[in-house]
Amino acid sequence: MARVDVEDVVKSYDTADAVTITGRPLRPPALNHVTLSIEDGETVCVVGPSGCGKSTLLKVVAGLETPDSGRVLYDGEDVTGVRPQERGVGMVFQDYALYPSMRGKSNLAYYFQVHRRSDEEAKRRTREVAEIMGVGFDSLLGRIPTSLSGGEQQRVAIGRCIVRDPSLFLMDEPISNLDAKLRESTRVEIKKLLRRFGITTLYVTHDQQEAVFMGDRIAVMRDGRIVQVGTFDELYYDPANLYVARFIGSPPMTILPARVEARRVTVEGQGWDLPDDVADMLPSGEVRVGVRPEGWALDSADGVRIPLRHVERIPTERASFLYGELAGASVAIAAPLDYPETESVQATPDWGRACYFSAEGEDTLRAPGALELF
Ligand code: ADP
Repeated sequence: MARVDVEDVVKSYDTADAVTITGRPLRPPALNHVTLSIEDGETVCVVGPSGCGKSTLLKVVAGLETPDSGRVLYDGEDVTGVRPQERGVGMVFQDYALYPSMRGKSNLAYYFQVHRRSDEEAKRRTREVAEIMGVGFDSLLGRIPTSLSGGEQQRVAIGRCIVRDPSLFLMDEPISNLDAKLRESTRVEIKKLLRRFGITTLYVTHDQQEAVFMGDRIAVMRDGRIVQVGTFDELYYDPANLYVARFIGSPPMTILPARVEARRVTVEGQGWDLPDDVADMLPSGEVRVGVRPEGWALDSADGVRIPLRHVERIPTERASFLYGELAGASVAIAAPLDYPETESVQATPDWGRACYFSAEGEDTLRAPGALELF
């Protein structure tokens, strides 16, 4: 078990020839003053678009890349200069990288051979891991990797990680090569394992839904920086800026151009009174209002008419999503499953639960904060 602290890490891949005549780097660093703590036993998911620095962060924590500046601490101890092999880290990557000619069992035992540990220990640990990995894992161990499906290979790869009893788990898109169905079952399996072992984990994905499912907390990255770290509720109801608000939530938040004046809000010529606690926080002038799919009152008397493009029915959620357009913005509204087919709806944003952003920058002017559900 370990607590991990990443302290003010900068990492650039720019080489000397990749600077402009002014001497400034051509590109911003892959990690630009990144600070992040992972508590003992916690799973933190790093999420963000391709190229934002997720893998680099994972590699710096693993010791596979050395930061230009800043430090990485395990349990308060500076490991920045410690080689990856000596860090007690288990890594699972997108491509499973099992040793292809070895049966699953040998893949698990290899570590013990290399480290000159006893056969006894290798057998005992493998047995324990097979027990923990659950139904069917034992049979996978008798097969060679090429005869295993992607999901099965990934289970063996995870088993191989666990057998070493790592103090820290690092996973980089471990299931993104699997087809949708396998992805779902494998992510449930990984989550169960993480729960069961309580191993501190850093998990990288570009998929926000996967991050929400896996992570105790989520770190949202952009252009080499961490924009916000928090629980799903914190990111969903209290986004630090428009970028996080857009990134978290599916379907995404609707962002409407609006005008605030004299404690009223206007969208496309239609006006509403703002709740006092919202009006108190907002300057007069142009803003952008963020409305979550569940943040609309449908068929309301004071609603604005929204033409619909299509309806998506989700029986398992007993819900539909109505997709339309308002003030040039794409709108997604949650509705009951049996909501009738119609060309347009009349709906009012719940102004008290909406997010408000400045019209120019991306700063959050007001966010509703988490819902008290219980
Ligand atoms: P992500 O995992 O979010 O897709 P990466 O950490 O892989 O992002 O990459 C961050 C940035 O660093 C990108 O601009 C990428 O092109 C660059 N980069 C990553 N690895 C290398 C490398 N080995 N050499 C040069 N540039 C790299």
